[in-house]
Amino acid sequence: MHVDRRNPPATLLTHASQLLTLRGGDGGPRRWTQMCELGIIDDGAVLIAGEKIAAVGTTDEITKHELAKQAEDIDCSGKVILPGFVDSHTHPVFTAPRLIDFEKRIAGASYEDIAASGGGIRASLRGVRESSKQALAVHVLRALDDMAAQGTTSVEAKSGYGLSFEAEMKSLEAIGEASEQWPGAVVPTLLAAHVFPPEYREDHDEYVRLICDEIIPAAAKRKLAEFVDVFCERGAFSLQRSEHILRAAIGNGLGVRAHVCQLTLTNLVPLLRLHPASLDHMDFVADDDISALARVDTVATLLPAANYFLGLRSFPPARKLIDSGVAVALATDYNPGTAPTPSMPFVLSAACTHMKMSPAEAITAATYNGACALRLQARKGSLEPGKDADIAVFDVRDYRELAYWFGVSRCCETFLRGLRRRRSVATSCLP
Ligand SMILES: [Zn+2]
Repeated sequence: MHVDRRNPPATLLTHASQLLTLRGGDGGPRRWTQMCELGIIDDGAVLIAGEKIAAVGTTDEITKHELAKQAEDIDCSGKVILPGFVDSHTHPVFTAPRLIDFEKRIAGASYEDIAASGGGIRASLRGVRESSKQALAVHVLRALDDMAAQGTTSVEAKSGYGLSFEAEMKSLEAIGEASEQWPGAVVPTLLAAHVFPPEYREDHDEYVRLICDEIIPAAAKRKLAEFVDVFCERGAFSLQRSEHILRAAIGNGLGVRAHVCQLTLTNLVPLLRLHPASLDHMDFVADDDISALARVDTVATLLPAANYFLGLRSFPPARKLIDSGVAVALATDYNPGTAPTPSMPFVLSAACTHMKMSPAEAITAATYNGACALRLQARKGSLEPGKDADIAVFDVRDYRELAYWFGVSRCCETFLRGLRRRRSVATSCLP
Protein backbone atom coordinates (compact mmCIF):
# COMPACT_ATOMS: atom_id res chain seq x y z
CA MET A 1 0.00 0.00 0.00
CA HIS A 2 1.07 3.56 -0.47
CA VAL A 3 0.28 6.19 2.14
CA ASP A 4 1.45 9.77 1.84
CA ARG A 5 2.66 10.29 5.38
CA ARG A 6 2.52 14.08 5.36
CA ASN A 7 -0.69 15.94 4.83
CA PRO A 8 -0.49 18.63 2.17
CA PRO A 9 -1.91 21.94 3.49
CA ALA A 10 -5.10 21.26 1.59
CA THR A 11 -6.51 18.68 -0.81
CA LEU A 12 -9.44 19.21 -3.13
CA LEU A 13 -11.47 16.32 -4.51
CA THR A 14 -13.60 17.51 -7.43
CA HIS A 15 -16.18 16.40 -10.01
CA ALA A 16 -17.42 13.29 -8.19
CA SER A 17 -20.38 11.92 -10.13
CA GLN A 18 -22.01 11.49 -6.70
CA LEU A 19 -20.79 12.79 -3.35
CA LEU A 20 -22.58 11.01 -0.49
CA THR A 21 -22.39 13.39 2.46
CA LEU A 22 -24.80 11.70 4.91
CA ARG A 23 -25.01 15.17 6.41
CA GLY A 24 -27.77 16.46 8.65
CA GLY A 25 -29.58 14.47 11.30
CA ASP A 26 -30.04 15.11 15.01
CA GLY A 27 -26.80 13.60 16.26
CA GLY A 28 -28.38 10.24 17.17
CA PRO A 29 -28.31 7.03 15.10
CA ARG A 30 -30.43 7.00 11.92
CA ARG A 31 -33.67 4.99 11.80
CA TRP A 32 -36.64 4.31 9.52
CA THR A 33 -36.48 6.28 6.29
CA GLN A 34 -33.59 8.42 7.62
CA MET A 35 -31.42 5.44 6.70
CA CYS A 36 -32.17 6.13 3.02
CA GLU A 37 -31.06 9.77 3.13
CA LEU A 38 -27.52 9.89 1.80
CA GLY A 39 -27.35 13.66 1.22
CA ILE A 40 -26.17 13.19 -2.37
CA ILE A 41 -24.49 16.06 -4.25
CA ASP A 42 -24.01 15.61 -8.00
CA ASP A 43 -20.68 16.89 -9.41
CA GLY A 44 -19.57 17.02 -5.78
CA ALA A 45 -16.36 18.28 -4.20
CA VAL A 46 -14.67 17.93 -0.81
CA LEU A 47 -12.01 20.29 0.52
CA ILE A 48 -9.65 18.76 3.08
CA ALA A 49 -7.49 20.91 5.36
CA GLY A 50 -4.97 18.84 7.34
CA GLU A 51 -6.89 16.11 9.15
CA LYS A 52 -10.30 17.76 8.79
CA ILE A 53 -12.97 18.44 6.22
CA ALA A 54 -13.08 22.17 5.45
CA ALA A 55 -16.01 22.24 3.02
CA VAL A 56 -18.36 20.06 0.95
CA GLY A 57 -20.60 21.10 -1.92
CA THR A 58 -20.75 21.18 -5.70
CA THR A 59 -17.46 21.52 -7.58
CA ASP A 60 -18.56 25.00 -8.68
CA GLU A 61 -19.09 26.12 -5.08
CA ILE A 62 -16.03 24.56 -3.51
CA THR A 63 -13.48 25.66 -6.12
CA LYS A 64 -14.32 29.27 -5.18
CA HIS A 65 -13.24 28.62 -1.58
CA GLU A 66 -10.11 30.63 -0.60
CA LEU A 67 -8.26 27.52 0.60
CA ALA A 68 -9.07 25.67 -2.65
CA LYS A 69 -6.66 27.88 -4.58
CA GLN A 70 -3.61 26.40 -2.84
CA ALA A 71 -4.98 22.85 -2.62
CA GLU A 72 -3.70 19.78 -4.41
CA ASP A 73 -6.48 18.96 -6.89
CA ILE A 74 -7.66 15.38 -7.41
CA ASP A 75 -10.12 14.82 -10.24
CA CYS A 76 -12.77 12.30 -9.18
CA SER A 77 -14.78 12.37 -12.44
CA GLY A 78 -16.85 9.23 -12.86
CA LYS A 79 -16.38 8.23 -9.25
CA VAL A 80 -18.40 8.11 -6.02
CA ILE A 81 -17.06 9.75 -2.86
CA LEU A 82 -18.46 8.77 0.53
CA PRO A 83 -17.48 8.73 4.22
CA GLY A 84 -14.95 5.97 4.93
CA PHE A 85 -16.61 2.84 6.28
CA VAL A 86 -16.70 2.40 10.05
CA ASP A 87 -16.17 -1.33 10.71
CA SER A 88 -17.53 -1.46 14.24
CA HIS A 89 -16.96 -5.17 14.98
CA THR A 90 -13.68 -7.01 14.25
CA HIS A 91 -11.43 -9.62 15.89
CA PRO A 92 -8.02 -8.96 14.25
CA VAL A 93 -5.68 -10.36 16.96
CA PHE A 94 -4.99 -13.87 15.68
CA THR A 95 -2.12 -15.56 13.91
CA ALA A 96 -3.46 -18.23 11.54
CA PRO A 97 -6.50 -19.15 9.48
CA ARG A 98 -8.60 -22.01 10.90
CA LEU A 99 -8.50 -24.36 7.93
CA ILE A 100 -9.34 -27.57 9.78
CA ASP A 101 -12.55 -25.95 11.08
CA PHE A 102 -13.27 -24.77 7.54
CA GLU A 103 -13.05 -28.29 6.12
CA LYS A 104 -14.98 -29.82 9.02
CA ARG A 105 -17.81 -27.36 8.50
CA ILE A 106 -17.92 -28.14 4.79
CA ALA A 107 -18.26 -31.80 5.80
CA GLY A 108 -21.28 -30.95 7.94
CA ALA A 109 -20.07 -30.06 11.46
CA SER A 110 -21.88 -27.21 13.25
CA TYR A 111 -20.28 -24.21 14.99
CA GLU A 112 -20.93 -25.88 18.34
CA ASP A 113 -19.65 -29.32 17.14
CA ILE A 114 -16.39 -27.68 16.10
CA ALA A 115 -16.03 -25.88 19.45
CA ALA A 116 -16.75 -29.12 21.33
CA SER A 117 -13.98 -30.95 19.42
CA GLY A 118 -11.33 -28.36 20.38
CA GLY A 119 -11.62 -26.18 17.29
CA GLY A 120 -13.24 -22.78 17.15
CA ILE A 121 -12.06 -19.93 19.36
CA ARG A 122 -9.85 -22.19 21.48
CA ALA A 123 -7.89 -23.17 18.35
CA SER A 124 -6.72 -19.57 17.98
CA LEU A 125 -5.76 -19.37 21.64
CA ARG A 126 -2.45 -21.20 21.41
CA GLY A 127 -1.23 -19.04 18.52
CA VAL A 128 -1.95 -15.84 20.43
CA ARG A 129 -0.48 -17.05 23.72
CA GLU A 130 2.73 -18.19 22.01
CA SER A 131 3.23 -15.05 19.90
CA SER A 132 5.08 -11.92 20.88
CA LYS A 133 3.24 -8.62 21.10
CA GLN A 134 5.19 -7.39 18.07
CA ALA A 135 4.22 -10.44 16.00
CA LEU A 136 0.54 -9.93 16.89
CA ALA A 137 0.80 -6.23 16.03
CA VAL A 138 2.07 -7.18 12.55
CA HIS A 139 -1.03 -9.34 12.00
CA VAL A 140 -3.32 -6.55 13.21
CA LEU A 141 -1.64 -3.95 11.03
CA ARG A 142 -1.95 -6.17 7.96
CA ALA A 143 -5.68 -6.53 8.65
CA LEU A 144 -6.07 -2.77 9.07
CA ASP A 145 -4.29 -2.20 5.74
CA ASP A 146 -6.53 -4.76 4.02
CA MET A 147 -9.56 -2.94 5.44
CA ALA A 148 -8.34 0.47 4.29
CA ALA A 149 -7.90 -0.96 0.78
CA GLN A 150 -11.65 -1.70 0.79
CA GLY A 151 -12.67 1.79 1.95
CA THR A 152 -12.62 1.39 5.74
CA THR A 153 -11.17 4.25 7.78
CA SER A 154 -12.30 3.42 11.36
CA VAL A 155 -12.14 0.00 12.99
CA GLU A 156 -13.20 -1.45 16.31
CA ALA A 157 -10.68 -4.15 17.29
CA LYS A 158 -11.30 -6.76 19.97
CA SER A 159 -8.97 -8.94 22.01
CA GLY A 160 -10.44 -12.32 22.93
CA TYR A 161 -8.12 -15.08 21.69
CA GLY A 162 -5.74 -14.81 24.66
CA LEU A 163 -8.15 -15.58 27.54
CA SER A 164 -5.60 -15.13 30.31
CA PHE A 165 -4.52 -11.96 32.09
CA GLU A 166 -1.19 -11.82 30.24
CA ALA A 167 -2.49 -12.79 26.80
CA GLU A 168 -5.44 -10.39 26.91
CA MET A 169 -3.14 -7.50 27.93
CA LYS A 170 -0.70 -8.49 25.19
CA SER A 171 -3.53 -8.57 22.64
CA LEU A 172 -4.72 -5.09 23.62
CA GLU A 173 -1.15 -3.78 23.53
CA ALA A 174 -0.73 -5.26 20.04
CA ILE A 175 -3.89 -3.42 18.92
CA GLY A 176 -2.44 -0.23 20.41
CA GLU A 177 0.89 -0.73 18.68
CA ALA A 178 -0.72 -1.38 15.29
CA SER A 179 -3.05 1.59 15.65
CA GLU A 180 -0.09 3.91 16.18
CA GLN A 181 1.20 2.88 12.76
CA TRP A 182 -2.14 3.16 10.98
CA PRO A 183 -3.53 6.59 10.17
CA GLY A 184 -7.20 5.66 10.66
CA ALA A 185 -9.03 5.38 13.97
CA VAL A 186 -8.89 2.16 16.00
CA VAL A 187 -11.22 1.60 18.94
CA PRO A 188 -9.86 -1.15 21.24
CA THR A 189 -12.31 -3.50 22.99
CA LEU A 190 -11.58 -6.05 25.71
CA LEU A 191 -13.28 -9.38 24.97
CA ALA A 192 -11.80 -11.59 27.70
CA ALA A 193 -15.37 -12.94 28.03
CA HIS A 194 -15.27 -14.66 24.63
CA VAL A 195 -15.33 -18.31 25.81
CA PHE A 196 -14.04 -20.02 28.96
CA PRO A 197 -10.37 -20.96 28.58
CA PRO A 198 -9.41 -24.64 29.16
CA GLU A 199 -7.76 -24.02 32.53
CA TYR A 200 -11.07 -22.72 33.92
CA ARG A 201 -13.23 -25.47 32.40
CA GLU A 202 -14.19 -26.69 35.89
CA ASP A 203 -14.46 -23.27 37.53
CA HIS A 204 -16.30 -20.73 35.43
CA ASP A 205 -16.95 -18.48 38.43
CA GLU A 206 -13.23 -18.07 39.00
CA TYR A 207 -12.67 -16.95 35.38
CA VAL A 208 -15.50 -14.40 35.70
CA ARG A 209 -13.84 -13.17 38.92
CA LEU A 210 -10.48 -12.85 37.11
CA ILE A 211 -12.14 -10.79 34.36
CA CYS A 212 -14.03 -8.51 36.74
CA ASP A 213 -11.44 -8.07 39.49
CA GLU A 214 -8.17 -8.13 37.55
CA ILE A 215 -8.40 -7.95 33.74
CA ILE A 216 -10.99 -5.15 33.42
CA PRO A 217 -9.40 -2.89 36.09
CA ALA A 218 -5.94 -3.34 34.53
CA ALA A 219 -7.18 -2.62 30.98
CA ALA A 220 -9.00 0.49 32.21
CA LYS A 221 -6.11 1.77 34.31
CA ARG A 222 -3.65 1.35 31.45
CA LYS A 223 -6.13 2.86 28.97
CA LEU A 224 -5.81 -0.21 26.73
CA ALA A 225 -9.54 -0.53 26.02
CA GLU A 226 -12.49 1.80 25.47
CA PHE A 227 -15.17 -0.91 25.57
CA VAL A 228 -15.77 -4.28 27.19
CA ASP A 229 -17.61 -6.90 25.14
CA VAL A 230 -19.05 -10.24 26.18
CA PHE A 231 -20.18 -13.28 24.16
CA CYS A 232 -23.58 -13.83 25.77
CA GLU A 233 -24.64 -17.18 24.33
CA ARG A 234 -25.35 -20.84 25.04
CA GLY A 235 -21.95 -22.51 25.49
CA ALA A 236 -20.29 -19.17 26.30
CA PHE A 237 -21.41 -16.66 28.98
CA SER A 238 -24.88 -16.76 30.57
CA LEU A 239 -26.99 -13.63 30.70
CA GLN A 240 -26.38 -13.33 34.44
CA ARG A 241 -22.59 -13.63 34.08
CA SER A 242 -22.63 -11.24 31.11
CA GLU A 243 -24.46 -8.61 33.16
CA HIS A 244 -21.99 -9.05 35.99
CA ILE A 245 -19.01 -8.53 33.65
CA LEU A 246 -20.53 -5.51 31.94
CA ARG A 247 -21.34 -3.92 35.31
CA ALA A 248 -17.67 -4.31 36.25
CA ALA A 249 -16.77 -2.55 33.00
CA ILE A 250 -19.10 0.35 33.77
CA GLY A 251 -17.67 0.51 37.30
CA ASN A 252 -14.24 0.99 35.74
CA GLY A 253 -15.41 3.75 33.41
CA LEU A 254 -15.51 1.68 30.21
CA GLY A 255 -18.27 1.49 27.60
CA VAL A 256 -20.11 -1.77 27.03
CA ARG A 257 -21.31 -3.84 24.05
CA ALA A 258 -22.25 -7.50 23.60
CA HIS A 259 -22.37 -10.40 21.16
CA VAL A 260 -25.92 -11.63 21.61
CA CYS A 261 -28.70 -13.61 19.89
CA GLN A 262 -26.32 -15.22 17.37
CA LEU A 263 -27.36 -18.83 18.00
CA THR A 264 -30.23 -18.53 20.47
CA LEU A 265 -32.80 -16.00 21.60
CA THR A 266 -31.77 -13.98 24.66
CA ASN A 267 -33.85 -11.54 26.72
CA LEU A 268 -32.33 -8.16 25.91
CA VAL A 269 -34.02 -6.09 28.63
CA PRO A 270 -31.37 -6.71 31.34
CA LEU A 271 -28.63 -5.79 28.87
CA LEU A 272 -30.41 -2.64 27.62
CA ARG A 273 -30.51 -1.35 31.20
CA LEU A 274 -26.71 -1.07 30.95
CA HIS A 275 -26.97 1.28 27.93
CA PRO A 276 -24.70 -0.68 25.59
CA ALA A 277 -23.40 1.25 22.59
CA SER A 278 -24.25 -1.75 20.44
CA LEU A 279 -25.71 -5.27 20.54
CA ASP A 280 -24.18 -7.39 17.81
CA HIS A 281 -25.31 -10.34 15.63
CA MET A 282 -29.04 -10.23 16.57
CA ASP A 283 -30.07 -13.18 14.41
CA PHE A 284 -32.78 -14.21 16.89
CA VAL A 285 -34.64 -11.33 18.54
CA ALA A 286 -38.03 -11.38 20.27
CA ASP A 287 -40.68 -8.88 19.09
CA ASP A 288 -40.86 -7.23 22.54
CA ASP A 289 -37.10 -6.72 22.49
CA ILE A 290 -37.31 -5.13 19.03
CA SER A 291 -39.81 -2.59 20.41
CA ALA A 292 -37.51 -1.91 23.37
CA LEU A 293 -34.51 -1.44 21.05
CA ALA A 294 -36.42 1.03 18.89
CA ARG A 295 -36.81 3.32 21.93
CA VAL A 296 -33.09 3.56 22.80
CA ASP A 297 -29.87 4.70 21.13
CA THR A 298 -28.27 1.25 21.32
CA VAL A 299 -27.38 0.21 17.78
CA ALA A 300 -28.13 -3.29 16.45
CA THR A 301 -24.98 -4.30 14.55
CA LEU A 302 -25.63 -7.02 11.99
CA LEU A 303 -22.83 -9.26 10.71
CA PRO A 304 -24.03 -11.08 7.59
CA ALA A 305 -20.54 -12.16 6.50
CA ALA A 306 -20.60 -14.64 9.40
CA ASN A 307 -23.91 -16.13 8.20
CA TYR A 308 -22.47 -16.34 4.68
CA PHE A 309 -19.26 -18.04 5.77
CA LEU A 310 -21.07 -20.46 8.10
CA GLY A 311 -23.23 -21.42 5.12
CA LEU A 312 -26.44 -20.53 6.96
CA ARG A 313 -29.71 -20.10 5.13
CA SER A 314 -31.03 -17.51 7.55
CA PHE A 315 -29.69 -14.02 8.07
CA PRO A 316 -30.35 -11.37 10.74
CA PRO A 317 -33.86 -9.85 10.38
CA ALA A 318 -32.71 -6.45 9.10
CA ARG A 319 -36.01 -5.58 7.43
CA LYS A 320 -38.02 -6.21 10.59
CA LEU A 321 -35.55 -4.26 12.72
CA ILE A 322 -35.41 -1.24 10.39
CA ASP A 323 -39.16 -1.22 9.80
CA SER A 324 -39.67 -1.23 13.60
CA GLY A 325 -37.42 1.82 14.08
CA VAL A 326 -34.25 0.11 15.35
CA ALA A 327 -30.96 1.81 14.42
CA VAL A 328 -29.03 -0.79 12.39
CA ALA A 329 -25.29 -0.88 11.64
CA LEU A 330 -23.30 -3.31 9.51
CA ALA A 331 -19.79 -4.64 10.21
CA THR A 332 -17.51 -7.42 8.94
CA ASP A 333 -16.97 -9.44 12.17
CA TYR A 334 -13.48 -10.03 10.67
CA ASN A 335 -12.19 -13.16 12.47
CA PRO A 336 -10.48 -16.47 11.61
CA GLY A 337 -13.39 -18.78 12.46
CA THR A 338 -16.59 -17.36 11.04
CA ALA A 339 -15.85 -14.24 8.95
CA PRO A 340 -12.38 -14.06 7.37
CA THR A 341 -13.11 -10.95 5.32
CA PRO A 342 -11.90 -7.36 5.70
CA SER A 343 -14.41 -6.18 3.07
CA MET A 344 -17.24 -3.81 3.95
CA PRO A 345 -18.35 -3.77 0.27
CA PHE A 346 -18.88 -7.54 0.53
CA VAL A 347 -20.98 -6.92 3.67
CA LEU A 348 -23.08 -4.39 1.73
CA SER A 349 -23.65 -6.99 -0.98
CA ALA A 350 -24.73 -9.63 1.57
CA ALA A 351 -26.97 -7.12 3.40
CA CYS A 352 -28.79 -6.21 0.19
CA THR A 353 -29.10 -9.67 -1.35
CA HIS A 354 -29.81 -11.71 1.79
CA MET A 355 -31.32 -9.20 4.25
CA LYS A 356 -33.22 -7.04 1.74
CA MET A 357 -31.68 -3.79 2.90
CA SER A 358 -31.65 -1.16 0.17
CA PRO A 359 -28.20 -0.02 -1.01
CA ALA A 360 -28.82 3.36 0.66
CA GLU A 361 -29.77 1.76 4.00
CA ALA A 362 -26.70 -0.48 3.82
CA ILE A 363 -24.39 2.50 3.21
CA THR A 364 -25.86 4.42 6.16
CA ALA A 365 -25.48 1.30 8.31
CA ALA A 366 -21.84 0.90 7.27
CA THR A 367 -20.83 4.52 7.82
CA TYR A 368 -22.85 6.86 10.06
CA ASN A 369 -24.63 4.19 12.14
CA GLY A 370 -21.34 2.29 12.48
CA ALA A 371 -19.87 5.47 13.94
CA CYS A 372 -22.83 5.63 16.37
CA ALA A 373 -22.13 2.03 17.39
CA LEU A 374 -18.70 3.27 18.54
CA ARG A 375 -20.07 6.62 19.79
CA LEU A 376 -17.83 8.41 17.28
CA GLN A 377 -20.54 10.18 15.27
CA ALA A 378 -19.43 13.65 16.37
CA ARG A 379 -16.20 13.11 14.36
CA LYS A 380 -16.89 10.23 11.96
CA GLY A 381 -19.52 8.77 9.65
CA SER A 382 -20.50 11.74 7.50
CA LEU A 383 -18.78 14.32 5.30
CA GLU A 384 -19.38 17.67 6.98
CA PRO A 385 -17.12 20.64 7.75
CA GLY A 386 -15.18 20.11 10.97
CA LYS A 387 -15.37 16.33 10.89
CA ASP A 388 -12.33 14.10 10.37
CA ALA A 389 -11.28 13.74 6.73
CA ASP A 390 -12.09 10.01 6.56
CA ILE A 391 -13.12 9.46 2.96
CA ALA A 392 -13.46 6.58 0.49
CA VAL A 393 -13.41 7.02 -3.29
CA PHE A 394 -14.92 4.26 -5.45
CA ASP A 395 -14.42 3.80 -9.17
CA VAL A 396 -18.17 3.64 -9.87
CA ARG A 397 -20.65 6.26 -11.10
CA ASP A 398 -23.64 5.34 -8.94
CA TYR A 399 -23.69 4.59 -5.19
CA ARG A 400 -25.83 1.50 -5.76
CA GLU A 401 -22.82 -0.11 -7.45
CA LEU A 402 -21.07 -0.26 -4.07
CA ALA A 403 -23.42 -3.08 -3.09
CA TYR A 404 -23.89 -4.42 -6.63
CA TRP A 405 -20.37 -5.58 -7.50
CA PHE A 406 -18.94 -8.33 -5.35
CA GLY A 407 -15.70 -10.28 -5.36
CA VAL A 408 -13.90 -7.25 -6.77
CA SER A 409 -12.67 -4.11 -5.06
CA ARG A 410 -13.77 -0.88 -6.71
CA CYS A 411 -12.25 1.27 -3.96
CA CYS A 412 -9.48 3.33 -5.54
CA GLU A 413 -8.46 5.59 -2.69
CA THR A 414 -9.09 6.28 0.95
CA PHE A 415 -8.23 9.31 3.06
CA LEU A 416 -7.55 8.44 6.68
CA ARG A 417 -7.65 11.64 8.73
CA GLY A 418 -6.55 13.44 5.59
CA LEU A 419 -3.73 11.02 4.71
CA ARG A 420 -4.11 9.72 1.18
CA ARG A 421 -3.90 5.98 0.60
CA ARG A 422 -3.87 4.87 -3.01
CA ARG A 423 -4.14 1.54 -4.71
CA SER A 424 -0.74 0.32 -5.92
CA VAL A 425 0.29 1.68 -9.31
CA ALA A 426 -0.26 -1.60 -11.14
CA THR A 427 -3.98 -1.65 -10.33
CA SER A 428 -4.53 2.05 -9.88
CA CYS A 429 -7.64 3.60 -11.30
CA LEU A 430 -5.95 6.97 -11.22
CA PRO A 431 -5.32 8.51 -14.64
ZN1 LIG B 1 -17.66 -11.10 16.86
